[in-house]
Amino acid sequence: MFRLMKAAPAMEKDRQKPGSGPDFRHVTEWIFDLDNTLYRADNGIFAQIETRMTDYVMAFLKLSREDAYARQKDLYRRHGTTLSGLMREHGAAPDEYLHYVHDIDLSDLGPDAPLTAAIENLPGRRFVFTNGCRDHAARILNRLGMTHLFADVWDIRTMDFLPKPEPLAYDSVVAAGGVACKNAAMFDDIARNLVPARKLGMTTVWLKTDSPWGKHGPMMDVAMGDIDHETDNLTRFLHSIRI
Ligand SMILES: [Mg+2]
Repeated sequence: MFRLMKAAPAMEKDRQKPGSGPDFRHVTEWIFDLDNTLYRADNGIFAQIETRMTDYVMAFLKLSREDAYARQKDLYRRHGTTLSGLMREHGAAPDEYLHYVHDIDLSDLGPDAPLTAAIENLPGRRFVFTNGCRDHAARILNRLGMTHLFADVWDIRTMDFLPKPEPLAYDSVVAAGGVACKNAAMFDDIARNLVPARKLGMTTVWLKTDSPWGKHGPMMDVAMGDIDHETDNLTRFLHSIRI
């Protein structure tokens, strides 16, 4: 009861009766995507990164903006991230790219106390699993007031530049964290990123957003049977589960 009293002051209509939702009592490892998962997809943060990806491709491959946009989406679709495509097909240097695309204005991003409290309430270890870079994750978590919540951040370097949804990415982070997959739950706004996690035995939760970003990638024909749960509100979902 004490934990429930400490939980976020959610709107009554958003609060489901604790213990009445999906059963997560087996979960001791909580794995969260970063962008568009720990902050809302409609706040313009990721849109800034997306614009800078196009800018980078435009300069690096000497293309028009229109062609660079199309090329960036094509690389993302075929390689999982734009960076992987630029590295494999064009020999791009990852450090320069990562620094450039994540050099964005975060002044509109503030603390999310309700989500922070909901995550803090989860028993066990918590991780961030992002196709972005560690420095970007640190800045975002700091703005959100969530730095203290996570045992580690697994980034694109942890995955040796093989991004989600490539199966090797999951092997890398499971090894890095010593994660027992059967006791893990993973949350991501991109459905296809959850399919390899579920195959490893993790419980998977798709955070549905209206962001166009998820619509450009590979494996968009993910069947709902490939994912365990879906929600359009992460805070509300975390309050609803049995833990
Ligand atoms: Mg995401």
